[in-house]
Amino acid sequence: MKKVLIVDDSKTILTLLKLEIEKYDDIEPYFADTFKSALHIIREHQGGFHAALLDLNLPDASNGEIVKLANSHDIPAVILSATADEDLKESILKRDIIDFVLKDDPSSIKFAVKSILRTLKNYDTTILVVDDSLVYRSAIVNILKRLHLNILEAEDGVEALKILKDNPQTSLLITDYEMPNMDGHQLTFKIRENYKKDQLAIIAISSLEKEETIAKFLRFGANDFVHKPFSNNEIITRINANLELLDLFTQIKDMANKDFLTGLYNRRYFFDAGKPIFSKNRRKKHSVAVATIDIDKFKKINDTYGHHIGDIAIKEVKTILEARLRKSDLIARFGGEEFCILLEGISQENTEIVFERIRQSFEVNKIKVSKNTITYTVSIGISFGLAKNLDEMIKLSDQALYHSKENGRNQVTIKLV
Ligand code: GH3
Ligand code: MG
Ligand code: MG
Ligand code: MG
Repeated sequence: MKKVLIVDDSKTILTLLKLEIEKYDDIEPYFADTFKSALHIIREHQGGFHAALLDLNLPDASNGEIVKLANSHDIPAVILSATADEDLKESILKRDIIDFVLKDDPSSIKFAVKSILRTLKNYDTTILVVDDSLVYRSAIVNILKRLHLNILEAEDGVEALKILKDNPQTSLLITDYEMPNMDGHQLTFKIRENYKKDQLAIIAISSLEKEETIAKFLRFGANDFVHKPFSNNEIITRINANLELLDLFTQIKDMANKDFLTGLYNRRYFFDAGKPIFSKNRRKKHSVAVATIDIDKFKKINDTYGHHIGDIAIKEVKTILEARLRKSDLIARFGGEEFCILLEGISQENTEIVFERIRQSFEVNKIKVSKNTITYTVSIGISFGLAKNLDEMIKLSDQALYHSKENGRNQVTIKLV
């Protein structure tokens, strides 16, 4: 959960913001309508907010004092203001703010919340700054720190490649051109051998006079460029735009690979990702486990409580499986109320223990939806060992599942290959 402070003296605006921000269940919002109450909330939480959305003009602080307050607690701030007062705006822009949104039309609420979401994502976003000049590197790093990004630094291309290898979660790289050992062009070229533009964005930095440098950067696979010298505003805007684009790529990939209801991977992705895992283990002669899980008498839940509650019951499978399995296990919803899991690096004994625990978790689980308490059990079929391919493993786990169903449901059957 990420804590966000929202301060505005207009009841209407607060209501609209509340409606918009409630759509995101990983945000814990706090609302204040005066400077005094904001101060109180910040103190109560010892400043521990991940972001703030602030109105400049409050009844008890009409000159943007609230921004100073957020800054002093190191809370990144997005301003949502009706002020057209250029002087005030100028002085606020000099402070540590992420964005300035004018309340000039209804879409500004959405814009402001979008900016907050971007800020929150930054906490989980890693960025690598490559420049041999400590002065320039520090200048960029200081800007990035205000955005609360996780920052890595390298002095040249060689060091950058090494850091990237150790930090594959890096989303964005900002690189200078002229550097000893390996320059920006070579670095970009090298990176593109392993990372595509939708995995890692590269922003190149170069002096204005060198037109050809930029063109070459782009040909080698840079996503964007910034001229030296740059303003804070310019580099922040470029970074945000590129991170947003990466998010969009992720969303598109998720749409293709994930199931809409649960957010779990779909059948197609299971095969795409599962086949290489299976082949690798087969080469090494390491057994794998494939488990198929199906909810028992699920039709009855739909018939008794309706499809909507049936959906909630299906989503519960994800919660239980993710709590009981490792991050490296490949979990997919195969369709309806059926799920499939591929596990590697696990013994037969542990496989049986894990899935027996999963069966029990469902048995004792109570899902409360308004006045109803819903319970259900699952049947599980497992194939363990090394069949000739992944399809065969799934077929065998399906046969084991059929056995669990026929034998009275709410049980685990394992078939050794
Ligand atoms: P069994 O113990 O033999 O598995 O019985 P069952 O009722 O669970 O199995 P059956 O395959 O007869 O019924 C599955 C039901 O799941 C039928 C279908 O309407 C329902 N279903 C499939 N997908 C969804 C979904 O996305 N949401 C909801 N609510 N129901 C779904
Ligand atoms: Mg340089
Ligand atoms: Mg079923
Ligand atoms: Mg079924």
